[in-house]
Amino acid sequence: MSEIRAEKVWHNGELIDWDDARIHVVSHSVHYGTAWFEGIRCYKTSRGSEVFRLPEHIRRLYDSCRIYRTEIPYSREAFQEAALQTIRANNLEACYIRPIVLRGLGAIGVSPRPTKVESYIMVWEWGKYLGEEALEKGVKVCTSSWNRAAPNTFPTIAKAAGNYLNSVLVKMEAEVRGYDEGIALDAHGLISEGSGENLFLVRDNVIYTSQLVHAILPGITRDSVLTLAAELGYTVKEQALPREMLYLCDEIFFTGTACEITPIRSVDDRPVGAGVRGPVTEALQEAFFEIVEGRVPDRHRWLTPVR
Ligand code: PMP
Repeated sequence: MSEIRAEKVWHNGELIDWDDARIHVVSHSVHYGTAWFEGIRCYKTSRGSEVFRLPEHIRRLYDSCRIYRTEIPYSREAFQEAALQTIRANNLEACYIRPIVLRGLGAIGVSPRPTKVESYIMVWEWGKYLGEEALEKGVKVCTSSWNRAAPNTFPTIAKAAGNYLNSVLVKMEAEVRGYDEGIALDAHGLISEGSGENLFLVRDNVIYTSQLVHAILPGITRDSVLTLAAELGYTVKEQALPREMLYLCDEIFFTGTACEITPIRSVDDRPVGAGVRGPVTEALQEAFFEIVEGRVPDRHRWLTPVR
């Protein structure tokens, strides 16, 4: 991964220098995880730089804040434009966009209501999350000993900083045990998702993925893959999935802004199918990349031009 750095950061409507994008240690979010964020990719397409599903990501940011009674003092359209402005200010072509809304200074009690709402947008150059090779060869994963949060504890529809304590446990455990990533089960032991990715399973050409009630983040790549899979004529089932399905599938893959569509070659040291990327995964990758690279027209209007 290249160094995370750029020239300018957007803060509450102004562009500031990267090194000035600091918060005070007494900020509410530092103590209680009260921040909501997004991860968005800007692709270099054949037409120029374009952001993938920007309105959907900004909508999810507003939804996350809404769950936590946090009002962002800008319209969604203005926030989208701010993201584009930040990319232009940093002269980037392909990049990762990280908007974050956090509860700042004003109180150190548990209620964030007296604290200031601070909005930031960072952008930086970023490569493939699970490595360049992962897209073709696939990654090695384990089921985690950590489960995702039970219903009505930490809302997983919100992309809240605090939720990532669970992801941190899943990811670190996987790394320490020699895997690339971990798959967490929900509180009932049913398949949920990776530490930062949604999960798809394929058996007999039918595609399966967990429903929102299984403590998943409603991924925007997941949504895109559901659309592409239907277009390619696959049967897709959103349903409860028992853990042992992981050992019986022909193919499994992760989806996410960072990992895009990444095949899984083994789960708990058992090869998935033939232990290599399968044809359904490859077909979906091709359908996805031909759109984000601008090799075909943007028929779903998923891309927003930067300039
Ligand atoms: N689940 C979790 C926990 C995540 O952090 C992410 C990444 N945002 C995803 C799923 C995938 O979501 P998206 O496709 O919107 O990036």
